[in-house]
Amino acid sequence: MSGLVVIGGSYAGIQAALTAREAGYTKPVTVVTDEHWLPYEKPPLSKDFLLNKMAEQNLILRDKAFFDISGIELVLGNQATEIDRRDRRVALDGDSTLQFDELVIATGSRARRLAVADAEVEGICYLRSLTDAVDLKARLKRTAEIVIVGGGFIGLEVAASAAKLGKKVTVVESGSRLLERAISPLVSSYLRDVHQQHGVEIRFGDIVASIESQHGRVTAIVLASGTKLRADLVLVGIGGIANDELARRAGLNCANGVVVDAHGRSEATNIFAAGDCANHYNRFAEGWIRLESVHNAQDQARAAGLAIAGQYEPYESVPRFWSDQYDVKLQMVGLCGRFDQMAVRGPVEGGRFSVFYFRQSKLIAVESVNRPGDQMAARRLIANGMSPSLEQATDESFDLKVLLKAAEKART
Ligand SMILES: Cc1cc2nc3c(=O)[nH]c(=O)nc-3n(C[C@H](O)[C@H](O)[C@H](O)COP(=O)(O)OP(=O)(O)OC[C@H]3O[C@@H](n4cnc5c(N)ncnc54)[C@H](O)[C@@H]3O)c2cc1C
Repeated sequence: MSGLVVIGGSYAGIQAALTAREAGYTKPVTVVTDEHWLPYEKPPLSKDFLLNKMAEQNLILRDKAFFDISGIELVLGNQATEIDRRDRRVALDGDSTLQFDELVIATGSRARRLAVADAEVEGICYLRSLTDAVDLKARLKRTAEIVIVGGGFIGLEVAASAAKLGKKVTVVESGSRLLERAISPLVSSYLRDVHQQHGVEIRFGDIVASIESQHGRVTAIVLASGTKLRADLVLVGIGGIANDELARRAGLNCANGVVVDAHGRSEATNIFAAGDCANHYNRFAEGWIRLESVHNAQDQARAAGLAIAGQYEPYESVPRFWSDQYDVKLQMVGLCGRFDQMAVRGPVEGGRFSVFYFRQSKLIAVESVNRPGDQMAARRLIANGMSPSLEQATDESFDLKVLLKAAEKART
């Protein structure tokens, strides 16, 4: 029986299926995922799960009964291997097929692998799934130290968790600062200081040149500078790659992810993509972008689910992201890449501040450390194209919501 088939059972896949149902889609809905777990939360994998604050069962987003009640068939442990656009069929491993009227590709992203010889020896780990996290947690228990390759979000979150567990942590970062592509220099150096205060050693401007191993297990990594770091556990966090091969093989337009419009629709009218595997034009980024965040996955998939049910609300959220490291709740809204002015609100040394970024006096992004209220206001300001002055942004006594209220009043 045809209907909606969704490949990938994580944030984007589940959201697309649920939204389509809630918006009145009446045909069968099937979500197929190659994982054996019920859909689960990913952000805690590098944080509370490693810290033993959250058990596996508490990560599960929705239980089986929920899907049954919602009229969504969940097929676990099956990989989609081919999309046949002409016959509207998805082939699964094990030789079965699913017929579809509409298809959502929500296959997410995978970890970029370390491109040196012996990178697949025992003890070189990646963190993308609950299975990876269970393995990493067990390995962390057995070791006193860990080397982390990559000062991005996942690497730094694992660094924070491992340091909190009392491990000796060394981070190797090829760039000159942490999270270079994602956050501004000011917040980047703040985070560096926090990590160093927790005993984490950070080596900037260096890369892994080779891996030493014995009996198939890593014993050390050798850096391009010649430094040798003894290691029996290495976590590699050097970015993600879109899982868009299925779409490519089906002849869909892909460029760092499946290219989709504001409704998550690919060039084929009945095939959609959302989440980490999709690339869309984002007016706030002023360009095409593939985002890896929970908010993006859910919001984009919601637009796709609505379109599948015949309702059209374009996806045009301001990009946002969060990361928890130690007591630092870092939140970002907008993209600060090309700012020409900035204003700092609140005490940096007190660990409670926001940085407002402007281009030609227009607010384009706000990064906050432990100031969630600023984020809420900033999201609405940026979405509505409104900007405080530099003075208002800096002045903690100035209520940013006043600007929003004034604009609402002017509209009525
Ligand atoms: C450790 C970690 C921490 C994170 N922390 C944060 C955070 O703090 N804040 C934040 O906003 N984001 C965070 N993220 C990112 C966030 O989890 C992702 O952006 C989000 O999960 C993307 O959802 P998705 O549904 O697009 O893809 P994914 O979550 O990648 O899911 C895709 C699913 O599709 C399955 N799949 C792939 N190919 C096939 C196939 N051929 N057949 C069947 N199934 C297939 C995959 O196995 C997977 O289950 C974190 C990610 C990780 C790994």
